[in-house]
Amino acid sequence: MNRPDGRRFDELRDIEAKAGIIKRADGSASFKIGDTIAYAAVYGPRNLYPKFLQNPEKGVLRCSYNMMPFSGSGERIRPGSSRRSKEISLVTQKALLPAINLNEFPNSVIDIFIEFPQTDAGSRCAGICAVSIALAEAGIPMKELVAAVAVGLVNGEVAVDLSKEEEDLGGAVDIPIAVTTRSGKISLLQMDGMIKAEDIKKGVALGKKACQKIFEIQKKALKEKYNTQ
Ligand code: ADP
Repeated sequence: MNRPDGRRFDELRDIEAKAGIIKRADGSASFKIGDTIAYAAVYGPRNLYPKFLQNPEKGVLRCSYNMMPFSGSGERIRPGSSRRSKEISLVTQKALLPAINLNEFPNSVIDIFIEFPQTDAGSRCAGICAVSIALAEAGIPMKELVAAVAVGLVNGEVAVDLSKEEEDLGGAVDIPIAVTTRSGKISLLQMDGMIKAEDIKKGVALGKKACQKIFEIQKKALKEKYNTQ
């Protein structure tokens, strides 16, 4: 059986990425995948207040994931923090930590804000892709970039980058994963739904391959930013 939008099972939706979109931020980026649009802004490193939150040995990475009230599918999203946004902020931070060298920033914080004007599934992954570009644009010392994509089951087949329509099909499984560029570490792996162990392996392999394509797009966005200045 085919996918509802006619894509191959290993085919990503169209992606557009841009670095340096928010002038006052230290680093920023947009990442659009299909109808999901993420904006990321990075501020810092700057002194962390209140002071008791400071770590004299290394900096703190603070992430805030936020879907705008009109950005969901259907119901208006209540502004402010929710259980879901707290969870996604946390997993986003964890997905990015292996790529950043925070030892250089004792007592400091790097603040990351990710906003979504429109979503169609895969938002946490789009957010991670956007932040990774924004951190590099901010000049934060990074060991590598991080790319992310969801894999899962669509009509019983392992597929990459599920749309909301596909996520809503009966029996769909959603597995967002994040991969670091050089070391190939998996820094995010969540799972929603029931899937056979061998299909998880297939999905992770598919996701890793798709992340390689995303890395190229992230690198291109960064190069384009610096070519035009
Ligand atoms: P992800 O966006 O990372 O795939 P979910 O699987 O939780 O995360 O959500 C899938 C999609 O469902 C989102 O991208 C969004 O389009 C929609 N969605 C999630 N939460 C809400 C909500 N509270 N209201 C409306 N739409 C939502």
